[in-house]
Amino acid sequence: MARLLLLGAGHAHLDAIRAIPALVARGHAVTVAGPGPCHCYSGMGPGVLGGTYPPQAMALPVRRMVQAAGGTFVTDTAVRIDAPGHAVHFASGLRLEYEVCSCNVGSLVAHPLPEDAAGTGSDGGYPPTLPVFSVKPIENLYRARQALLRLAAHGAVHVVVAGGGPAALEVSCNAAICIARARGNAAPAVPGDDSVTLVAGHGLLPGLPERARTLCRALAAARRVRIIEGARAVRANADGVLLNDGRSLPARVVLLATGVAPPPLFAASGLSTRTGNGTNGGPDGGTGDGSGDGSGGGLAVNAHLQSIVHPDLFGGGDCIHFTPAPLPRVGVHAVRQGPVLAANLAARLDEHARGGASAARTTGQPSLAPYIPRPGHLLVLDTGAGTGVLHRPVGSGALCFGGRLAFLLKRAIDTRFMRGHLPPGGARLGECPWDEPA
Ligand SMILES: Cc1cc2nc3c(=O)[nH]c(=O)nc-3n(C[C@H](O)[C@H](O)[C@H](O)COP(=O)(O)OP(=O)(O)OC[C@H]3O[C@@H](n4cnc5c(N)ncnc54)[C@H](O)[C@@H]3O)c2cc1C
Repeated sequence: MARLLLLGAGHAHLDAIRAIPALVARGHAVTVAGPGPCHCYSGMGPGVLGGTYPPQAMALPVRRMVQAAGGTFVTDTAVRIDAPGHAVHFASGLRLEYEVCSCNVGSLVAHPLPEDAAGTGSDGGYPPTLPVFSVKPIENLYRARQALLRLAAHGAVHVVVAGGGPAALEVSCNAAICIARARGNAAPAVPGDDSVTLVAGHGLLPGLPERARTLCRALAAARRVRIIEGARAVRANADGVLLNDGRSLPARVVLLATGVAPPPLFAASGLSTRTGNGTNGGPDGGTGDGSGDGSGGGLAVNAHLQSIVHPDLFGGGDCIHFTPAPLPRVGVHAVRQGPVLAANLAARLDEHARGGASAARTTGQPSLAPYIPRPGHLLVLDTGAGTGVLHRPVGSGALCFGGRLAFLLKRAIDTRFMRGHLPPGGARLGECPWDEPA
């Protein structure tokens, strides 16, 4: 018998959760720890903001899934991994030991917007302070929707979205749709007195080719989303958002999509660097990610998704630094890593049960499968009101189009993913603590 501890029930752990009955049947014990009973599928988050989907549509009731499979679910947040001691410390003070541990703790928005001292807006407006929602965790998008609906009942709504990537574009367009529908507008665009402004930093969607950018700009314009390029949001106060060029924008809600980075768990555990030796202050490896080591603060793993230092520690998704070839932090990789991670965790547990794992001290033993990333990945952006923009590298070129078909493809992919993982009946109303009706 060996103990498996899964930290986070994100996209990359869903296959391991599905494998719990087989692991239990082989005599292993599985514990999954996460901050709440539900996990949100990011692909549908912008659609929840815009009202395309109800909040339950994006929720996986992971606590129920784990318990039904024969595992133990612990509602807690890991704060430190003691890899040499084979134990994890949690926010509540709990300490759990393991033979094998896997990390799928996702990512957080990398650049929070400093807020001036809270207080009443200069116009005495509602609400008295400025609500700032980062796009991670994804359930924040439902919270933002509720805030927009409440504000719309009190007067003009001004939204500022900070960030220039795909998530920023998606939430801008869907915030526009949310406000339009709240006003009863037939047109899928920000109504006259309201505003949605996207502050895109250096430029919008810098990682995408010009054709995709043009399609996205056109759809944002159709939603009456104003795009500001060449400036960054640097501060928020009760009246609005200050840009680095001195301009200030009125805001009643701010959405933060300024890029993501792994949570501080690995740095706090001395695990975030390439060598895992806890020093994080070397010269920047050229990634511009601020971590100073090229890892972006993620758990450094080998091709088998196994820590390059601690053979009983694994990881997948946004929180890892995949040392064979750094990967973009997209759900596609987290999902594709899932089956490899599940198989390798099972192999390592079996080795422990046979008593062979302590002999196999080195990482990367032959029984483990490699994760082989496919070059390029399909990206479909939800631009609200049943439209999208699809981009997929094909050979030396790319397939790229926008409109209803792109959205329908995205919806088919997203609903198939959810159907493939949801227990019968899906997430129940009230099961996720954040899904009370707007
Ligand atoms: C608005 C938006 C839309 C996106 N749309 C897409 C898309 O359409 N396609 C795509 O490929 N990618 C998309 N992405 C990127 C995608 O969200 C991430 O790449 C994906 O969520 C990574 O999955 P993950 O399993 O690594 O992490 P997550 O999905 O973030 O899961 C991590 C889990 O770990 C839990 N956790 C966090 N910290 C701890 C801790 N200390 N202890 C225990 N548990 C913890 C969290 O609660 C969470 O449940 C989108 C991102 C955003 C922000």
